[in-house]
Amino acid sequence: MPRLSIEIQGVVQGVGFRPFVYRAALARNLTGWVRNRPDGVEIEVQGENAALEDFLRAMRDEKPAPARIHAICSHTIKDLPADSAFAILASGASETTRPSVPADLALCADCKAEMDTPGERRYRYPFTNCTYCGPRYSIIADLPYDRPRTAMRAFPLCEACEAQYRDPSDRRFHAQPIACPVCGPRVSLRDANGVLRAEGDAALREAAVDLLAGRVLAMKGLGGYQLLVDATSDSAVALLRERKHREEKPFAVMFLDLDSLSRACEVSDAEAAILQSAEAPILLLKCRGGVIAKNIAPGNPSLGAFLPYTPLHELLLGLLDRPLVCTSGNLSDEPMCINDDEAFERLGDVADAFLVHNRPVLRPVDDSVGRVEGGALHLLRRARGFAPLPLSVPLDAPVVLAFGGHMKSTITLLTGGQAVVSQHLGDLDSPQGIALLSRTVKDFLNFFQAAPARLACDLHPDYASTRMAERMAKARGLNLVRVQHHHAHVAACLAELDLQEPVLGLAWDGSGYGPDGTVWGGEALLVEGPRFSRFGHLRTFPLPGGERAVKEPRRSALGLCWELVHDEAAAADLFSTTELRPLHRMLELGLRSPRTSSIGRLFDAVAALVGIRVGAGFEGQAAMALEFAAAESNDDGAYRIALEGGIADTSPLLEELLADRRQGTDSATMARRFHTALADLALAFAESAGREDVILTGGCFQNQLLAALCTEKLSGRGFRVRRPALYPPNDGGISLGQAWVAAQWDGQSDLGV
Ligand code: ZN
Ligand code: ZN
Ligand code: FE
Repeated sequence: MPRLSIEIQGVVQGVGFRPFVYRAALARNLTGWVRNRPDGVEIEVQGENAALEDFLRAMRDEKPAPARIHAICSHTIKDLPADSAFAILASGASETTRPSVPADLALCADCKAEMDTPGERRYRYPFTNCTYCGPRYSIIADLPYDRPRTAMRAFPLCEACEAQYRDPSDRRFHAQPIACPVCGPRVSLRDANGVLRAEGDAALREAAVDLLAGRVLAMKGLGGYQLLVDATSDSAVALLRERKHREEKPFAVMFLDLDSLSRACEVSDAEAAILQSAEAPILLLKCRGGVIAKNIAPGNPSLGAFLPYTPLHELLLGLLDRPLVCTSGNLSDEPMCINDDEAFERLGDVADAFLVHNRPVLRPVDDSVGRVEGGALHLLRRARGFAPLPLSVPLDAPVVLAFGGHMKSTITLLTGGQAVVSQHLGDLDSPQGIALLSRTVKDFLNFFQAAPARLACDLHPDYASTRMAERMAKARGLNLVRVQHHHAHVAACLAELDLQEPVLGLAWDGSGYGPDGTVWGGEALLVEGPRFSRFGHLRTFPLPGGERAVKEPRRSALGLCWELVHDEAAAADLFSTTELRPLHRMLELGLRSPRTSSIGRLFDAVAALVGIRVGAGFEGQAAMALEFAAAESNDDGAYRIALEGGIADTSPLLEELLADRRQGTDSATMARRFHTALADLALAFAESAGREDVILTGGCFQNQLLAALCTEKLSGRGFRVRRPALYPPNDGGISLGQAWVAAQWDGQSDLGV
């Protein structure tokens, strides 16, 4: 009988793929074996021709939902060993050199059905999971991934669970985190002082009653504590905002099912598939209005929406007839709380009640956030479901550890032909944020048994990540490669898309350290291999008060007007006379007024000048408001930005905009003309650089309208537009770019000018 050798590459480990192969072989009377290999699985099967063909088809069509297949190749084998049955073999030896850590998976349909069926052992059990679903990364203490090295070590399997764990034909065969009401974790409801109110199903029911009464619930979720309130109640949302000191930043909302979600938001087929996938991210969707409270995403036409991804969320939402605001359990920008004492201490003033359980969360893993554009997922925050799955990086390179930026920080370990990017770790302004960065570094080095040969960090001397990298480089005597911020932005995209050819990279964002003493952020870089040159940039302007301008867009407006039209009056109406005097002095003397080429700050300035936003409650808020206004307009005009000698001069733009403002042009029209001006600028850069591939990245390209306008103009003239997709265009991608550059550095020459 014929025998096939099959190699499958992709995300097929930790998702029940080998048991699936085993069952598929048994069902077709095939003999042979399956085993893991570093980049996937390897199979040999023998039997009837038709059965073999059907087996191959099943590999593609019937694979477990969380599995991702990148490639399948098969060939017939001449030498026929005699197997009497089909076996799951121990992994090949090479696997130890490139272990992979599986990502957390959303509740699967089979487990959900089981949980909903009265009489089943796991009826309404909040920790139901199987080989295809459940916690992974958030509970792993060490590798290899086996139960004693997870947070489930404290819960020895009962007899019935043990039998399922050992049965190759069972869905729970070798599923490390499985549990049941007899042997597994339990939930309880406590008041803000930790006093027990209820346990088990009663805890869920009481928590639901609290939510319906407009109270704030802290819930220990999959990757840390979350805060929940009734998403249909303005007053409940207002209470959460007040207690969390979060005035305007949008909240995400969890809906029981796709039906109820579709009543609140417009959902395409592609979006529905992603919402229901094993990664189950938050998706930004167009909001229909009327269903959820108005203060959830004030002034924002879209809503971050998602579906329950753990049994606990599923059960809780099932007890309510309404969606819930579901946000990270933290104070402002600190990392999510994961341990119970810390949660009661830090969230005690925010939440009225705590829905907790006794399964430890070993590291914070936030919900991932993305958007579907042109049918494809673009992540803005990469965490649950995606991290820490590896990215294949076919470089023959030393092991590199990259420490990332300062905001939306991540780390990347590049080893054995793959880059592993950590989950979103948040900002590094708090001691908790810095501690999380340090803990994640330790975790990664331990998981992957990696000894970095070189380290990478940002050029910024004051980032906490830079300092940590410096300390480690000194302690271990390693080379530290300092990668310019915007170079790293472009390189992250090159790494993700595996591009080696020379490109023009437009890296537009809020700020990044420039080696010339200015703050960069409107950069056109020529990138080739690990090197870059600064082809062009936005004309610089001063920011009176420096960093304070991030929270006060009008300061950018003042600096821009001062620089470009020498007209103090142009932005003067945004300030009181007493406010203005010291700012003018700063500008005159050049004190505390760093110069910047940042397009993020240009967005702020324009938002303030067209009267959209004087202050910003959170980073990027002014730019977002400007985008939403521009999206309302069909105006086909554009302001002019003059590109000469690589310098993008915004003085014509500013003059035209101020003239529009004097004439009383409406803000939507002005916002639109500004967006179109930037798209024209992107095209002008591309035409003068003359490179076919143009990369659009940096935080500004989270702006959907800007990305669409630039893409349209550039591809209309034959340029190939490339954008990051699964690694965010914001600073979450910085560590990946740093690692990619450092890996290719020759050890001597400068990386860029
Ligand atoms: Zn399952
Ligand atoms: Zn059990
Ligand atoms: Fe950036």
